[in-house]
Amino acid sequence: MSARAGIVVTGTEVLSGIIRDSNGPWLSERLRELGVDAAQIVIVGDRPDDLHAALRFLAEEGVAVIVTSGGLGPTADDLTADVVGRFQGREMVLDESLFGRIAAILEPLLSRWPDLDRDAVLRSNRKQAIVPQGATILEPVGTAPGLVVPPSEAGVAGIGGPAVVVLPGPPRELQPMWRTATATDAFRAATAGAGVFEWRIMRLFGLPESEIAESLLVAERDGIQLGELEITTCLRRGEIEIATRFAPSANPVYAAFEAFVRARHGELLFSTDGSTIDAQVASLLLGTGGIARTIATAESCTGGLLAGRLTDLAGSSAYVLGGLVVYSNAAKVALAGVAPELLERVGAVSAEVAEALADGAIARLESDVGVGITGIAGPGGGTPEKPVGLVYVCVALRDGRRMTRKLSLPGSRADIRDRTTTVALHMIRRLLLDA
Ligand code: ATP
Ligand code: MG
Repeated sequence: MSARAGIVVTGTEVLSGIIRDSNGPWLSERLRELGVDAAQIVIVGDRPDDLHAALRFLAEEGVAVIVTSGGLGPTADDLTADVVGRFQGREMVLDESLFGRIAAILEPLLSRWPDLDRDAVLRSNRKQAIVPQGATILEPVGTAPGLVVPPSEAGVAGIGGPAVVVLPGPPRELQPMWRTATATDAFRAATAGAGVFEWRIMRLFGLPESEIAESLLVAERDGIQLGELEITTCLRRGEIEIATRFAPSANPVYAAFEAFVRARHGELLFSTDGSTIDAQVASLLLGTGGIARTIATAESCTGGLLAGRLTDLAGSSAYVLGGLVVYSNAAKVALAGVAPELLERVGAVSAEVAEALADGAIARLESDVGVGITGIAGPGGGTPEKPVGLVYVCVALRDGRRMTRKLSLPGSRADIRDRTTTVALHMIRRLLLDA
């Protein structure tokens, strides 16, 4: 049985949807890497009673650790330290030396803004130096210190309750501080029961999720002990992801499962080492021995999204030359060199124009690989012959080899555009592997 954890995300701006929570999922992944299961993520506003109730709820669930995010700032609505101290039955005391360290962090700020009321600033930051007695202090990344607060006899959950790790809200502060927190004795003591787990990901492209459900049934029937694996499947950006967690003793079972998926789905299984399609395309373009193949795009309905995805990875400046955004016919002609007669004859949304765009990207930017995309991402842009979701993608190599696909994609405008970029990446991979 592995240790379980709870996460409490605080902030009225997160609860109300003004800011999208990124700390909960981030912490959940980090906990999982440590072999700790995130049992729940609870989001509460900046109300002390709600935060207290969330802590009590998670303690009753029997989690070993609770991680909180947010509410550590100097203002009056920042009350996490206070509530957690009360929950753990610990008195709040001023840590003089911490106060001095926070003051030192603020010094440059105060000298840059001479009009600031010095005493008022220091008064409100004094608040951040008042911490639960017996807590481990995590040094500020911004101005707010984090805390690891162990349970105590006087606390709501008593001595057997969870330790509470208190982290600031801004992700750029929370993330570095998390590493510090996990290295503390208090954190280690709380998660001592965490098991060691292996974590693997397989990715497939080009089949419906229902196929995977069927495959799992067949694997079980074939005698693979799937009960020893904790398998989660999900659809992500048009790909199927099979994430599996297992104890090291189940390694042979996982090996059999992976071999089964490979035998059953063949080429549709494109990743067994967790690598994404983006990373695979990047390494194919980067090549070996420092000779990269360059790529350029000419995109109509995706408006440069593919070029954006290609430039997302570090090192992409070695192989991405650029992207032409050619939404109107005039732009297709002027920027990508598509022949006006062709547009006239077959229409902008056609295999021929996708090919002309790919060729145009190669010609105009002198790249080795060119991608052309043209389609109807809707809404309101379709006709009975060319409905919303109809997209043509062409990937071409400078030597004339090419692959062109007609897609009929479901969903919203955002879905269609995003899915198109995924399909294009898979086509690039296919063509480069075969080249
Ligand atoms: P501060 O000293 O900045 O007030 P804090 O620890 O009190 O830090 P909050 O007041 O809760 O943190 O949040 C500050 C800002 O950090 C938010 O306005 C938001 O921009 C960002 N933030 C907070 N929580 C989250 C979250 N869960 N996901 C993404 N961003 C967040
Ligand atoms: Mg705040």
